[in-house]
Amino acid sequence: MIMKYRSDSLKLLGVEAAIRRLTPLHPQYTFLDGLQRQIVSGIKGEELLNKLFERVKFRFDYYVLHDLHLYSSAWFQIDSLIITPYYVIILEMKNIGGHIKIRKNHPQLERTLTSGQIDYYKNPIGQVIEITDLLQDFFDMRNIDIPINRVIIFKDANRSLQFDETEIPIMGLQELPHYIRTRPRTEVKLNPEQVNTLLNTILMAHQEYNPFPITTNYFIEPKDIITGVNCKFCSEFTVNKLYREWRCQKCGETTKIGHLNAFNDFAMLIDRKINNKECRRFLHIETCKQASVILEKLNVDSSGSKKKREYMLNYMNDNK
Ligand SMILES: [Zn+2]
Repeated sequence: MIMKYRSDSLKLLGVEAAIRRLTPLHPQYTFLDGLQRQIVSGIKGEELLNKLFERVKFRFDYYVLHDLHLYSSAWFQIDSLIITPYYVIILEMKNIGGHIKIRKNHPQLERTLTSGQIDYYKNPIGQVIEITDLLQDFFDMRNIDIPINRVIIFKDANRSLQFDETEIPIMGLQELPHYIRTRPRTEVKLNPEQVNTLLNTILMAHQEYNPFPITTNYFIEPKDIITGVNCKFCSEFTVNKLYREWRCQKCGETTKIGHLNAFNDFAMLIDRKINNKECRRFLHIETCKQASVILEKLNVDSSGSKKKREYMLNYMNDNK
């Protein structure tokens, strides 16, 4: 049973907004581009895992928690954690294709593509050992006694694996059900009530990571963010306010919610609070009065009076 899903869809929207509003020459652009792919890959990995658990049945209760951010002696993150009455399993998901070579005590993982190109990634073994130690501390601090298993899973079907015998099993996603089934289940460590308590303890301790404002968290100067209302059809920032709607000067498409998308980007990237002057600058509005009408119509909480009035923007989950 899946008890917790990934929570980084908001972060993905924020990172996508930053990519949309930075020039490709910006020093953080390549990093954000990689981060976006990493988040998408994490979401896809979770979907694959969930599909597998829908298909495969086990003869004992198990619970899956995705994307945990916990603290014991330090902060640590777990891709997915499986909890059973007998043991827990840390799943570290990797999405790397090609021929993968992992050597024991070697800091890097080597990937060779069919073209002969060789890339190096951080060896996940050290990472998983660290996560295991921190989860053990988390359990010790709460007098929870349960064996911790850990597995590194390569979910990409187009890959071949070559690795030294290591203390941490390395496998493809399809081998996971067999691995789960064959873990020793001789001793029940947690009764149903204790399993429930453990799930609640973890969910209560999990800290939702707030990625906003993106400019602060990813070292981007707010002045580098491209201003203007973005056209959803041609992707240009050439949308102007007309009497009742917004029209793109380039492709001619119109929308009634151009300002809402821009406000959403402003909230995710720069600040949740916006005043009249910032609104004019960011939405390319000419007069104070026009900006004031737009801001008042948002019908959101505000503080201060006249020119200093600040409006509290909401994050929208869907900015289409
Ligand atoms: Zn357009």
